[in-house]
Amino acid sequence: MSALKTDVLVVGAGPAGSTVARYAALQGLDVTIIERRSRIGVPVRCGEFMPSIDEVRGMFPEAAGMEELFDIPSPLRRREIEAIRLVTPKGRSYDLPFQGYSTDRDRFDQHLASQAVSAGAELMTSCAFQRREGDRFMTSQGPIEAKVLVGADGPGSRVARETGLPLPKDPYPAVTAQAEGDFEPVLVMFFGGIAPGAYGWIIPKDGGANVGVGHNPRLADRSTSEYFRRFAEGQGFSLEGRVSGKHVPAQGPISPIHGEGVLTVGDAAGHVMAVNGGGVPLAMIGGRLAADAIGGHLLRGEPLSLYEDACRRALFPRLRSAAWTKLLADTFAFGSDLRTEWCMLALGRRRMAKMLRCRFPFP
Ligand SMILES: Cc1cc2nc3c(=O)[nH]c(=O)nc-3n(C[C@H](O)[C@H](O)[C@H](O)COP(=O)(O)OP(=O)(O)OC[C@H]3O[C@@H](n4cnc5c(N)ncnc54)[C@H](O)[C@@H]3O)c2cc1C
Repeated sequence: MSALKTDVLVVGAGPAGSTVARYAALQGLDVTIIERRSRIGVPVRCGEFMPSIDEVRGMFPEAAGMEELFDIPSPLRRREIEAIRLVTPKGRSYDLPFQGYSTDRDRFDQHLASQAVSAGAELMTSCAFQRREGDRFMTSQGPIEAKVLVGADGPGSRVARETGLPLPKDPYPAVTAQAEGDFEPVLVMFFGGIAPGAYGWIIPKDGGANVGVGHNPRLADRSTSEYFRRFAEGQGFSLEGRVSGKHVPAQGPISPIHGEGVLTVGDAAGHVMAVNGGGVPLAMIGGRLAADAIGGHLLRGEPLSLYEDACRRALFPRLRSAAWTKLLADTFAFGSDLRTEWCMLALGRRRMAKMLRCRFPFP
């Protein structure tokens, strides 16, 4: 079978893949993006919270081009959020100012994909990457030849596995659903036995909320769906639609995230804030860095390793502090409600606000 030929084959039309595709196509490269789902972003497997540009800039000051990258149209902003409330196992709460908004991840991802297509990328849905065969990449719709392969295919990245790049280790499970009702404009995180090693959340939208739980399987004694059921019953949510989930990388940055003619980005590269599970802004920042490096490689003969160097500068410092903080929390704070309660009391608002923003809480 004759192969489709392209400069850049991007696997996965999530925020990482669509951002790579958009910025690679804008440089005049021939870009094909394949997505195994038939509808982009469906079903939603995300809490759907986006921090404001100022919050992202504060966490990742080295990342460039934020205004353009995060210029999200207002219809995609479902509810402005002013604060994050951390709730201890005994119900004590700490309100920390934090700006952001909730979105609809299906429409959000569709918007990013349409930006990639407008920039000139070709999008193929219902098309799954399967394997590498020599210099060809086999997909469910036939072989594709590409100069650069991008694994933007999530934490279980098949691209990483096929090309020998490392995968994020021990990602933790998390599930989400939509709840109906009126909720305060505050993102609420519940800690303790409700979701050991992570948290239960309420992320308000207009006329409802995204609700969910994540947990560390090593600290858990029941299934994710059982944690979710108990959380939903305890809060009295009126749920609509189905519960769905996936895994969240929490290991911190991994390396290498590039090889000969290949790189990984977003969840596939472990670019998630381990302390809060947020990965969409990083998928987009990393996607742009990947596209810049691919352009440099294909148009000016620069090494693809410049991508990894750029990630080290822009993303790694805060991702490392977040991963360390998460490890400390797993070791000392999680595992028993009493310890969680005590640690949150001892940390206090200021240190917990630092942790939320991927800063080390001490001194
Ligand atoms: C329950 C939950 C709640 C979360 N809440 C938040 C939140 O509120 N805010 C936040 O910032 N982050 C959140 N995250 C993390 C966030 O969802 C991810 O970090 C983000 O989606 C990463 O984007 P990505 O493009 O790297 O990967 P993804 O969004 O996972 O996109 C990967 C795409 O690749 C496709 N794909 C996979 N394999 C193949 C293949 N073989 N061939 C073709 N296509 C393939 C998939 O279908 C998918 O569309 C949450 C995660 C979970 C699980």
